[in-house]
Amino acid sequence: MERPWLSMAMPAPGRPLQPTWHTMLPLAGPGQVRIAVAACGVCRTDLHLVDGDLEHPGHPLVPGHEIVGRVAALGEGVRGFAFGQRVGVPWLGWTCGACCACRAGRENLCEQARFTGWQIDGGYAEQVIADARYVFALPERYGDVQAAPLLCAGLIGWRAYAMAGADAHRIGLYGFGAAAHLIAQVARHQGHEVFAFTRAGDAPAQALALELGAAWAGGSEDEPPGAPLDAALIFAPVGALVPLALARVRPGGTVVCAGIHMSDIPSFPYALLWGERRIVSVANLTRADGQAFLALAAALPLRVQVQRYPLTHAQRALDDLRAGRFAGAAVLVPPGEPA
Ligand SMILES: [Zn+2]
Ligand SMILES: [Zn+2]
Repeated sequence: MERPWLSMAMPAPGRPLQPTWHTMLPLAGPGQVRIAVAACGVCRTDLHLVDGDLEHPGHPLVPGHEIVGRVAALGEGVRGFAFGQRVGVPWLGWTCGACCACRAGRENLCEQARFTGWQIDGGYAEQVIADARYVFALPERYGDVQAAPLLCAGLIGWRAYAMAGADAHRIGLYGFGAAAHLIAQVARHQGHEVFAFTRAGDAPAQALALELGAAWAGGSEDEPPGAPLDAALIFAPVGALVPLALARVRPGGTVVCAGIHMSDIPSFPYALLWGERRIVSVANLTRADGQAFLALAAALPLRVQVQRYPLTHAQRALDDLRAGRFAGAAVLVPPGEPA
């Protein structure tokens, strides 16, 4: 008989995650792979799901969309992956390929998109099923736990960074967590200056930012030295940061909101937007974003700051993320994996 396997599921909106044991392995259908999970990152989006900020899909929800594991079964017709190969599963889990957005190369905006750890059971589990067309090979230089945060913090951070524009040299990062600590290193590598804005008095996050090459780190209301910023990327889910960030960027500069959910943006004087400043949001990712970022991560020795939790402690990892109790990225490790 097969060994039972564990998932951590949210039975209904706002309810804590429950361990659930399964006796049957999930079946990889045509075009799908079954993956034995080695590590799964904890993203702020998971927190929004658990807190009911995003719609509950109506069935017990297994979060997790920064999945690293090994291919344990290949469904019919899967090409390009081998049994035992290490792979990563991101947030974008399925797109229709036929809608206007898909045909325009903007599959991140697909009207029928399905997302890992939301409409599709995610990686807070020992086993997961994924559509092979949305699965990535992973750069070898990162261990399983280190690779996990690349799959959303890295990818979404990268898309947000790219939206800042090629002329952005002085870049502000609001919320110095999983995404910002990776993108700060990319920006530094590309010769840009990084300014890290954290919750007032968050000394560990500010220290990490300075260690990773930020020119300055301070509270979100503080004014960094020197000229105004060319762009600001907001990773914290706090709408009040939008006018603060606008006030720090130069005319023609861009404020990028990178989260899936944000508290309301307070009203602000038009003068903050005047001067052709732009506010844009980033929604999801395309597979091309994934390929571009993972190629970069293969070439760069990104330092991935992780806080490990056993899979059974997923709820505690979410609570610690909400409270800002660690620097970097939380990663869940299933029982039996090296912690
Ligand atoms: Zn995410
Ligand atoms: Zn579509």
